[in-house]
Amino acid sequence: MKRVLGDNWVLPALDDDNRAFFTSGKLVVQQCSQCEKFQHAPEDICQSCQSFELHNFESQGQGKVESVAVVDHAIHPSLKDKVPYAIVAVSVDDAPGVLIVGNVIGKAPDDIRIGDNVSVVFEEVDDERSGERLTIPQWQAVQ
Ligand SMILES: [Zn+2]
Repeated sequence: MKRVLGDNWVLPALDDDNRAFFTSGKLVVQQCSQCEKFQHAPEDICQSCQSFELHNFESQGQGKVESVAVVDHAIHPSLKDKVPYAIVAVSVDDAPGVLIVGNVIGKAPDDIRIGDNVSVVFEEVDDERSGERLTIPQWQAVQ
């Protein structure tokens, strides 16, 4: 898949906490081994109980649009040919409490609605800085 926001848009900086999310080719969120709550974005501590015992949970990748914003103004020169585009926050069906921000492909920005069902797809891009192949989660509409 071509990158939604283009090849010149910035890539995430990988660390030990977010590597699985950006490189596994699966929709991976953190789950606390103590209180079993899910969380995203990844970090080294549970936001609910402050445990450091977190593991990766592999979601089935289905979700629902909870929020949508359409961007009409390019905030960076590399985005000038990409506007308008939509930014969505998606709740993940099998990871309650998690919201993942991304873009929706294959649907006009003004046609995306809160409540739309979406499934994860992945942008694949080689990160020259880390030497790793990134699989960046994005969303596609489910009919
Ligand atoms: Zn916890």
